Amino acid sequence: METGRTIIFPGKLQGCLGILALLVFLMLSGPLAAQHARPYPGPIFDAHLHYNVEAVEPYPVAKVLGMMKEAGVAAVLANSRPNDGTKALAESDDTLAKSGVQVIPFVRLYRNRDDYTNWFRDPTIYQMLESELAAGTAAGEYRGVGEFHLYQSQDANGPIARQIMQLAQARNLVILAHVDDAAIEMLYAHAPKARIIWAHSGISGVSASRVAELLVKYPTLVGELSYRPGLTGGNGLLSPEWKQLLLSHPERFCLGSDTWTNGRWAAYAEIMAGYRVWLGDLPVAIARKIAWENAARLFGLP
Ligand SMILES: [Zn+2]
Repeated sequence: METGRTIIFPGKLQGCLGILALLVFLMLSGPLAAQHARPYPGPIFDAHLHYNVEAVEPYPVAKVLGMMKEAGVAAVLANSRPNDGTKALAESDDTLAKSGVQVIPFVRLYRNRDDYTNWFRDPTIYQMLESELAAGTAAGEYRGVGEFHLYQSQDANGPIARQIMQLAQARNLVILAHVDDAAIEMLYAHAPKARIIWAHSGISGVSASRVAELLVKYPTLVGELSYRPGLTGGNGLLSPEWKQLLLSHPERFCLGSDTWTNGRWAAYAEIMAGYRVWLGDLPVAIARKIAWENAARLFGLP
């Protein structure tokens, strides 16, 4: 071991080296270092996936299953307009055996685009739901209902929404709902023990504290995080308030691709890679809960 040797630099050079050392220290300890945190490497449960009619031709079943596998997605909550897409995924020989992707089928309430804004006042939608549930899929029984949309909170108070919530509670079906915070309360008023995945966790940007309030008030509520305003900053990492919320409620959030248009299918790999970046900024056990365990637990997957 060499000891006691000191290299003496001229004063100016020593100053420069000091500044250089300081810059290196700041780079390693500041936000730049966080950007280089290792992305989350584990499995992802895509808990908000659509395989709508427009996707079927450009993205055949074998292709989408390959894309999921490539992105490290090991299970999907699948629903589609109309329900044929979900059934095609569920009956594919490529599912699970070849691709390792498990399909959790949901009944969507939409036969066509008009149903997005009319389902809650159309009794034939409830009949369709009942017959879909009776028929099931090749991957087994349907496990939930949705994604459905309510663009006006008060539509959650209508008779069809009430019937669906009560059916979900009675049959242990999970609801995937794209609604605002007021409608979450109305849906729970119909069926206090129902399990709801809140698509986007407030897509119009309701405050993180309001999201926290609802999580505390409704223990069966889980927030899905696609399109959530304010979740991340320009660097792709979690905003401070959302990081705090996820750390405070690590059992209550999950991820989704929301492939509502073919553009989202085109970006599928990128969407999942983006999730892995901010998940990498969380303790690994918490990242795994949000990426996989919380959704897996809803459906009894290991
Ligand atoms: Zn969606």
